[in-house]
Amino acid sequence: MNNILDTGIKNARNVGRYIFGSGSVAELTDLVQERKGNTPGAAVFLVDSFFETNMDYLENLPLEKSDLIRYVSIDEEPTTESIDSLVEEIASEVVMPSVIVGIGGGITLDTAKAVSNLLTNGGKAADYQGWDLVRVPGVYKIGIPTLSGTGAEATRTCVMTNKTTGLKLGMNSDYTVFDQLILDPTLTATVPSDQYFFSGMDAWIHCVESLAGGYRNPIGDAFSTQAIELCRQVFVGGEMMSDDHRAKLMVSSYLGGCAIATSYVGVVHPFSAGLSVVLGLHHCVANCVTMTCMESFYPNAYEEFMLFVEKNEINIPQGVCSGLTDEQFEDLYRATVIHEKPLTNALGPGFRGVLTQDKVREIFEAM
Ligand code: ZN
Repeated sequence: MNNILDTGIKNARNVGRYIFGSGSVAELTDLVQERKGNTPGAAVFLVDSFFETNMDYLENLPLEKSDLIRYVSIDEEPTTESIDSLVEEIASEVVMPSVIVGIGGGITLDTAKAVSNLLTNGGKAADYQGWDLVRVPGVYKIGIPTLSGTGAEATRTCVMTNKTTGLKLGMNSDYTVFDQLILDPTLTATVPSDQYFFSGMDAWIHCVESLAGGYRNPIGDAFSTQAIELCRQVFVGGEMMSDDHRAKLMVSSYLGGCAIATSYVGVVHPFSAGLSVVLGLHHCVANCVTMTCMESFYPNAYEEFMLFVEKNEINIPQGVCSGLTDEQFEDLYRATVIHEKPLTNALGPGFRGVLTQDKVREIFEAM
């Protein structure tokens, strides 16, 4: 086993508790009350800005006078700067909160995790980008995903881009894991279908990459295998957004998050990260754009992906790299090969021999 792929995780940490089922979001009131009984303080609700004008399911948020609600912009993925300014804002309005509730997609859930850690640990978000740098537990955090696929509800990281260093890296820590989840598939009914597909594919891609990698572990494999099976049922089994399929995709997302927590992704995510860092594409759509050019690395998965796209009549953006300058292609190359661990997982320690600058450019040019 190559050293670079040792996750360092000897004692895996999963989410503390979860409630699953249609309508389970109603349990939030009791959970927040119970928390306030244990540790007095305000509740801070961080809610996806999508719901600012679309609060049907969330009308009954257990919001009291002293509580705080902030809408998290989903225009841009979290940056260390955006997290720092949100933490500052919250700290100026409430003394240490009793609980943080994140309601939304991956961006919002990751934001809730980062804010929770920073409120108790102090310092700046950039100080904790890496592995096991968070020193003490964050504020008790409840996650309620309203989009399925990223696995953000299950993982021990919260991805942030540091615009100064160009580093897209989260706070990988046991303390980043949610204490409580509410997995309510009714919350994903209003997701636009493209978004639903792109995010769902993130779970599938995580698991495809992890099963094709050199670093494996039996529990991660079992999570991945089942998550992939559920995705197949959702994306080739008729109406992908039926009640039954939305429930299955929510489970797949959670399992995919558990899988990736103790393994690594492969070639897709580094290229996708390049598209996000250099061109600002969102993670899940960037993954799908990348997938259209992955036939040589993952021939079977490529075929299945194209079937999913066709069956669900999805348009994957094309020409995203047309007309870029040489400098931008160089930036894309650097932002891709910087992800040594997943690339080593997929291609071995000699990955730079496969992903030469010319080869990487050729792949991006085809997107
Ligand atoms: Zn992903």
